[in-house]
Amino acid sequence: MANLSSSSPHIDAAAAVSAPMRIVAENVPDWEKLPLAVPCGRCGADLHSLTEPVCHSCGLEFVWDEVLPVEQLCCRFCSYHLMGLTERRCPECGERFDWAEVLSAARACLWTNNNLFEQQWSRKPFSSLFRSWRLAAFRPGKLWSKYSLQDEPQILPLLLFALMQWAVFAFGWQALAPLVTRAMNYFSGLEGSAIQFSYFFRGGQGPRSLPMFVGLWYGVTFICFQLYVQSKHLYRVRWQQILRVYVHSTAFAAWAMVLWLVVEAGIDLTLLLIPTIRPQINNNLYLNAGRIVLWLAILVTWLSIWLGYRRYLRVPHGWAVAGLSLWLAYLLTQLLQLYLPDVLIRLR
Ligand SMILES: [Zn+2]
Ligand SMILES: [Zn+2]
Repeated sequence: MANLSSSSPHIDAAAAVSAPMRIVAENVPDWEKLPLAVPCGRCGADLHSLTEPVCHSCGLEFVWDEVLPVEQLCCRFCSYHLMGLTERRCPECGERFDWAEVLSAARACLWTNNNLFEQQWSRKPFSSLFRSWRLAAFRPGKLWSKYSLQDEPQILPLLLFALMQWAVFAFGWQALAPLVTRAMNYFSGLEGSAIQFSYFFRGGQGPRSLPMFVGLWYGVTFICFQLYVQSKHLYRVRWQQILRVYVHSTAFAAWAMVLWLVVEAGIDLTLLLIPTIRPQINNNLYLNAGRIVLWLAILVTWLSIWLGYRRYLRVPHGWAVAGLSLWLAYLLTQLLQLYLPDVLIRLR
């Protein structure tokens, strides 16, 4: 984010004298006409009456237009521009208004054009989901340029997105398996003989299966993020914002089982087409291929969380927070899976 205050060493001496004054004069809101609290997007401290675009509480550098989009401060019934009013009633249509709601709507207005699931899930559920998933999985840098700390995370669509990712992880490969079998029959040239390929991976069933483990791990990791004093107290990041980072960071990993299936099908197809290498193959090859895919998924998740911490939350050391949270949660999840099913059975 551009630093609009004066301290850049790259500005030459002449510009350094005039530019900062001009920028401040143009961008600082006319506070006398704005009788409303202006919360910092990261920590919530009131930024009213500040002249420098830096939060006095958490140190966040911001852009005035994102924190206080003056042009968008309008009545939600008749769009009358409300700046300068001291009475909380619209002079045009007579409806009462609340400054906090007006400001929140004005900030949200700036981001609706991005067509991301979190903002457009009720209006364009499919296209916005596709776009969010694609950006989160493959272009996280671009994704974080479309979010600002100033727009409030929407919890319901974030939870829906997380749930869909888990469903794709747990059941996506089962939905794809018949299609892959068909494709393999076609490519193997044995059409009509209807070979049934069996996949090494089954995922297991019940409370100790891989999908259950991953689901539990997902939840426990999020709780572990809350332990970090560094991000929670020094930078005053809120749990809603950590949820936004986390939910988007697992978009690639959600496809791990599907990827495993495709890799396994690829190995099978190679064996079918080149029968001479078949005797050298054993089950370990399939298992190791699957392990590589899962480790790749964890690695991508870790890197994505790190990027989210840096680009969106603007908190350093995201790599350590992400790594330690994932690892600690992994251990806790193993403990939970060891004892939780027995505890539940005893409770019944
Ligand atoms: Zn702040
Ligand atoms: Zn009105």
